[in-house]
Amino acid sequence: MATKRKLKLKSPIIGILKVIGILLLIVLGCFIFYRKQINDLKKIGYSELASKNILLKWKKEDVLEIGKNKTLNIAFESEAYKEKYFDSYSKIKYKDSKYLIENINALIKKGYNNEQITMILYHGSGEDVRKFAKRDKVRYLEEFYTTDYAKIKYYDRYVKYMDESREDEETSILLVNLDMDKEEYEDPIAVKDFSYDMLVNKHRKLEEKFQPSNLVKINKEDASDEGMKANRTAYVAFKQMKKQAESEGYHLVINSAYRDYDDQTEIMETYRKLYGDAYVEKYVLKPGFSEHQTGLAFDIGSTDTKVFANSDEYTWIVDNCYKFGFIYRFKKEYEDITGIRHEAWHYRYVGRKIAKEIYDKRLSYEEYYAMHIEK
Ligand SMILES: [Zn+2]
Repeated sequence: MATKRKLKLKSPIIGILKVIGILLLIVLGCFIFYRKQINDLKKIGYSELASKNILLKWKKEDVLEIGKNKTLNIAFESEAYKEKYFDSYSKIKYKDSKYLIENINALIKKGYNNEQITMILYHGSGEDVRKFAKRDKVRYLEEFYTTDYAKIKYYDRYVKYMDESREDEETSILLVNLDMDKEEYEDPIAVKDFSYDMLVNKHRKLEEKFQPSNLVKINKEDASDEGMKANRTAYVAFKQMKKQAESEGYHLVINSAYRDYDDQTEIMETYRKLYGDAYVEKYVLKPGFSEHQTGLAFDIGSTDTKVFANSDEYTWIVDNCYKFGFIYRFKKEYEDITGIRHEAWHYRYVGRKIAKEIYDKRLSYEEYYAMHIEK
């Protein structure tokens, strides 16, 4: 009797336990199956979050068929994902930028096709594209944006410049990127950080308090005057160049190097007194717009000949300065772009790699900068 009672007592508990056990197994089975699906997607490059959303939206088969796709991955991570644009997401090339999916959605809505959207994304930041996507569909997309360094934010300026100047697309892009559709000194870009490839000119201004890094004193034997300073790396490069020149029988000397904002103001006023406003306006750079404030520019002379352009040193330096990281900054053929009359004596340190490219390609620094450095 006692055994029977015991069994009777046990059986409902066992039954419940069995059911719970089976349920647990089912849940575990489902979980293992779910994890396997997630892992299938992760294996081909989708994130955990994207993979979860792919399953949630019943898109696993389509995604597996496409394979790894960075844009799709971001789309499935994003709350802006739209089912109807799935195909476009999979065809638009990924760009690491803010608002990527929001921007793609907006551009599709404006009527751009997948290739055009890829093109637009490539030529601007997330912020730029966001603004661009708000305007009506533009007419001349392919005309401008097959050029690498064209910027989506300058679309209107390109159209206007081309219209007024009758230059071709590529030239218009380059010149607008260089702000040459603006007046000199008008609304300049503020250059804040020191770098060896920095560009300072009549459209790009240094602040009054800007100082180059690593300013060092120039030795008496390297300069025509005492108390000059320059950036250390640029000065070391000059000394190497001078040494090489000397070994070949040429004698270089620094006539001017780093000049701060106040020095430039002083120069301007001195010339104003000597030659008047018109001269200063034309030939003297306003404070903040001179490369000498970067500590990377040198006015170089010859110890043998008074006019540098007539010296053997000049002939030597034109073809050798790039080997030491310097460029012949204000060549005659660049006058239209630099806005500076030919200066045989002014050399700018940019580092060997850039200097060689500029020498080989015969570019002004402005052109090189617009094509290769500016983002
Ligand atoms: Zn100079």
